[in-house]
Amino acid sequence: MSMKNKMAISDIYFAGRRVIARVDFNVPLDKDGNITDDSRIVGALPTIRYLAENDAKVILVSHLGRPKNGPEAKFSMKPAAVRLAQLLGRPVLLAADVIGPDAKAKAAALKNGEIMMLENVRFHKEEEMNDPAFAKELASMAELFVNDAFGTAHRAHASTAGIADYLPAVCGFLIQKELEIMGKALDNPERPFVAILGGAKVSDKISVIESLLDKVDTLIICGGMAYTFLKAQGNGVGKSLCELDKLDLANELLAKAVAKKVNLLLPLDNVVAKEFKADAESFTVPSDAIPDDCMGLDIGPKTIELFSEAIKGAKTVIWNGPPGVFEFERFANGTHKIAEALANSGAITIVGGGDSAAAVEQFGFADKITHISTGGGASLEFLEGKELPGISCLTDMPSGCDCSNCAGCH
Ligand code: AMP
Repeated sequence: MSMKNKMAISDIYFAGRRVIARVDFNVPLDKDGNITDDSRIVGALPTIRYLAENDAKVILVSHLGRPKNGPEAKFSMKPAAVRLAQLLGRPVLLAADVIGPDAKAKAAALKNGEIMMLENVRFHKEEEMNDPAFAKELASMAELFVNDAFGTAHRAHASTAGIADYLPAVCGFLIQKELEIMGKALDNPERPFVAILGGAKVSDKISVIESLLDKVDTLIICGGMAYTFLKAQGNGVGKSLCELDKLDLANELLAKAVAKKVNLLLPLDNVVAKEFKADAESFTVPSDAIPDDCMGLDIGPKTIELFSEAIKGAKTVIWNGPPGVFEFERFANGTHKIAEALANSGAITIVGGGDSAAAVEQFGFADKITHISTGGGASLEFLEGKELPGISCLTDMPSGCDCSNCAGCH
């Protein structure tokens, strides 16, 4: 997946034009409806500011949460619109509906540089069905489409992909940045290139492992996923997470790593416990001596050293998925130490996936990471080499044309 032939926000001319911009304002709210983390709104500011400063008439659209039964106050975009207005220092109008009379009237009345926000696009079930009639209605309010929602770029929904059938479509600055950084790391990495894959399920990450085996110098497999591989190698893994139906596949991947001369690293030792509990009694055992009544919940000190050395020698590191159950303090050490190793390395470091991004934030290393992806699922699919519908739907750069407002002359 490449952005090379796709049009970007800086390729077109916006003044006086009505622009519908898909953003990812799916922010976490507390029980009183207050935003607890506004980083997704902050991430979209460069695009929104650029559109407003270039005199577009800006219509923002996003989802928030998972409303299933039409409009519901608790899923309203109101808190996001209010926070956006504060961050921008300019007014943001909120429509009472998505494609209804209020949205249409407000969109039609927008003046150059004004910003409005539609209500939660998932108030219509047609959004996730990528219903063409709904996409067309959304499109009818504007003349151009800007997609800047990387977090939903792997979904083919009406406001992320379908709408591009009806309008010239370009990506915003956030998507551009995500793809540039991750694209360069994958296509032309500075080596040694190390990938760290952790988390719970092998089945979620098989195709990422396969695709990374063609690219990396070292592949670190850890977290709950590692036990399927340790078992495939003939170790007993006790009560650890293990996908028995994936043992053959794990062996194939291990053989592929050998054939490709990829240095595949698995945990040498593990912090284990008899129960999956925050205060479970824990001890450290080598990977070939996990007791039958125990489960591995974190990597041990020898493993931390092995992985940290690999990270230290790397020039590019990608990390997706924690090496331990970091939500429990007792089993958070491995994740903490891996985050620290990334923070201290001179490498280009890219963290994707909600859990690893949360861990990096939690341990205070976020400002020492080159890039923390805003999209967990989307970044994983990107690493797999899959097409992201929210990107592939964008307008191709017309060949041989160097005018500055191509999307306008379509
Ligand atoms: P994923 O969504 O696949 O990236 O998985 C993230 C989850 O994996 C986190 O909630 C971790 O608690 C969990 N995890 C990491 N290591 C282990 C382990 N050894 N056993 C069980 N769960 C784990």
